[in-house]
Amino acid sequence: NLYNMLQELRGNIRVFCRIRPLINSESVSSIEHIGNDGSIMVCDPLKSQTTRKIFQFNKIFGPTTTQGEVYKETQSLIRSVMDGYNVCIFAYGQTGSGKTHTMCGPSGGLSSQELGISYMALNDLFSISTSRVDVKYDIHVQMVEIYNEQVRDLLNIRTCSSNGLLSLPDAKMCPVQSPSDVINLMLLGEKHRASSPTAMNHRSSRSHSILTVHVNGKDMSGNVTRSSLHLVDLAGSERVDRSEATGDRLKEAQHINKSLSCLGDVITALAQKNSHIPYRNSKLTQLLQSSLGGNAKTLMFAHISPEADSYLESLSTLKFAQRAS
Ligand code: ADP
Ligand code: MG
Repeated sequence: NLYNMLQELRGNIRVFCRIRPLINSESVSSIEHIGNDGSIMVCDPLKSQTTRKIFQFNKIFGPTTTQGEVYKETQSLIRSVMDGYNVCIFAYGQTGSGKTHTMCGPSGGLSSQELGISYMALNDLFSISTSRVDVKYDIHVQMVEIYNEQVRDLLNIRTCSSNGLLSLPDAKMCPVQSPSDVINLMLLGEKHRASSPTAMNHRSSRSHSILTVHVNGKDMSGNVTRSSLHLVDLAGSERVDRSEATGDRLKEAQHINKSLSCLGDVITALAQKNSHIPYRNSKLTQLLQSSLGGNAKTLMFAHISPEADSYLESLSTLKFAQRAS
C-alpha cells in the first residue's frame, strides 16, 4: 500500500507496535481495533464521551502474538547484520508494557519456550555463521547501561565509570562462540546491573540497557565486513508527576525524558532525511551514532499496556512512535 511505499522511500526506519495481554485483575482495554494493515484505534474507556484516535505503523502485534511471530517479522533485519549492515532495535514504552518481554522473554525466561528477540537473533547469527563456509566470522558482545547519563560497563565491573566518560569502544568486548556463551554473559550483566552501587528495585526500569553484538566477517579473498547489532531495552517512558518527584527521582526522570526525546529527535531527523542529525544531545544517541543513519537499519518497538489506567501513557507512546515513523 501507499504507506509502505512511503516508508520505503523514507529509508531504513521501521516502527512496530506491540500490545501486551491484560494481566490478572486488569480488565478494561483501551484498544478498540487492530487492523492488519498496521493501524490501531484507541479510545479512553473511562470516558463516556469517547474520541477515537487512529495510528498507523509498519506492523501491529496484538495481545495474542507469540514471541516467534514477532521474531519472524524481525528476522530479515537480523540477517542483514551478517551482510554488513548495522542494525539498532529499540524497545520503547512505559514500565510494565512488555519491553523486556520482547527483548529477553518472560522474567527469568532463559529456560522458557518464550525466549525474546535477543536470544533468537543470536541463534540466527550463529547458525548463519556456521552455514556460510566461505566466510569466517568473529562475534563479540558488549553490554552497557546508561543511568542518569552515565555509561556503565556491565561485563567488566572494575572499569565501571564514575564520571560518565566511558564510551562504547571502551567497554569490554567478550568473544562468543555460541548462543549459550551469550546467555551466560547476559546473566552476568544482569547480575552486575542489579548489584550496582545505586541499586534500587526500580533501577532496571530507570536505565537504558544496550546489548551490542559485533560481527566481523572475512571471506576467502580477504574481504572484510564489519557490522553491529544493538539491542536496546529503554528506560520506562512514563511521565513522573513533577509535583511528587523530588531529589533522585526527579533527577532520574529528567535524564530519561531528555534522552528519550533526543532519541525521538534523532530518529525523526533521520526519517525526514534532514542534513543535521542531533546525535550529541544525549549519551544514548552519542553512543549509537555510528549505527543510526547512513546505511544502518533501525527498528523501534512501541509497547502498549492495554488497560484503561494506562490510556494516557499509551497515547503518548503512540504519538512518540508515530513521530518516528
Ligand atoms: P517492561 O520491561 O516494559 O517494564 P515487562 O516486559 O517486564 O515490562 O512486562 C511486564 C509484565 O507483563 C511481565 O510480567 C511480563 O511477563 C508480562 N508481559 C509483557 N508482555 C507480555 C506478552 N506479550 N505476553 C505475556 N505476558 C507479557
Ligand atoms: Mg523491563
